[in-house]
Amino acid sequence: MIVVKVGGSAGIDYDAVCSDLAARWKAGERLILVHGGSGETNRVAEALGHPPKFVTSPSGYTSRFTDRQTLEIFEMVYCGKINKGIVERLQRLGVNAVGLSGLDGRIFEGRHKDSVRAVENGKVKVLRGDHTGTVERVNTGLIELLLTAGYLPVLTPPASSYEGVAINVDGDRAAAALAVALKAEALLLLSNVPGLLREYPDEASLIRQIPAGNVEAYLEFAQDRMKKKVLGAAEAVAGGVQRVIFGDARAGQPITAALNGAGTVVS
Ligand code: ADP
Repeated sequence: MIVVKVGGSAGIDYDAVCSDLAARWKAGERLILVHGGSGETNRVAEALGHPPKFVTSPSGYTSRFTDRQTLEIFEMVYCGKINKGIVERLQRLGVNAVGLSGLDGRIFEGRHKDSVRAVENGKVKVLRGDHTGTVERVNTGLIELLLTAGYLPVLTPPASSYEGVAINVDGDRAAAALAVALKAEALLLLSNVPGLLREYPDEASLIRQIPAGNVEAYLEFAQDRMKKKVLGAAEAVAGGVQRVIFGDARAGQPITAALNGAGTVVS
């Protein structure tokens, strides 16, 4: 089993990802796709007059502050436009894909965090009314049902809280939890960069290899949202996934290239 996470940043080529995925699926490989949608969510939120608000935690992690209205916009884009766009591409390529959010069948489950600590103008503030959380449990029943019946699952946040409330969760870490739960042999985190860069944005500074036992040490090279990918990679290898690869989804055959060792390989 290979879990492929494709991000939602500018420049990602979903056609390239889907045709590579379709070819491998038709050749008999078992794969699951997890996707993001942050770039498009920002655009739609602006257009709807509810611009995105990002907060930075005291430890330096950036996340989207998700009030109820933001959550609804988030669902429109992630579960609607992006998810159905990917399913449509795969169907056109002859793959019987099924698009689901983490709410469906409670695939992704975690604790609802209603408040977030954020640094604003050098001061730490507590913001309430947040619909976020972290995936703590993956319920694989529905996914296994689909895979056994020959469907390719296409998954996206949000997740479900233990109380059944939708929560915005990080897609990279959700994909990592999924890879662990399914005992996947590889987790691919594909984005609009060649991999983890030692001196971002210099693409020539690509880090080619990260030893599995020492992933956290590489957090220092990752800025803002890249930190979540490094964290997800650390969680995946700690959970038994043999290989995590940060790969490029901008062109070519992103999945095949990553599996052949392009990008940053954590193993
Ligand atoms: P996606 O939505 O595609 O999953 P994110 O935007 O969450 O991707 O994270 C990837 C982004 O992280 C890159 O587009 C890049 O701007 C940023 N980034 C920060 N630090 C690094 C780094 N050291 N190496 C590569 N990318 C980095």
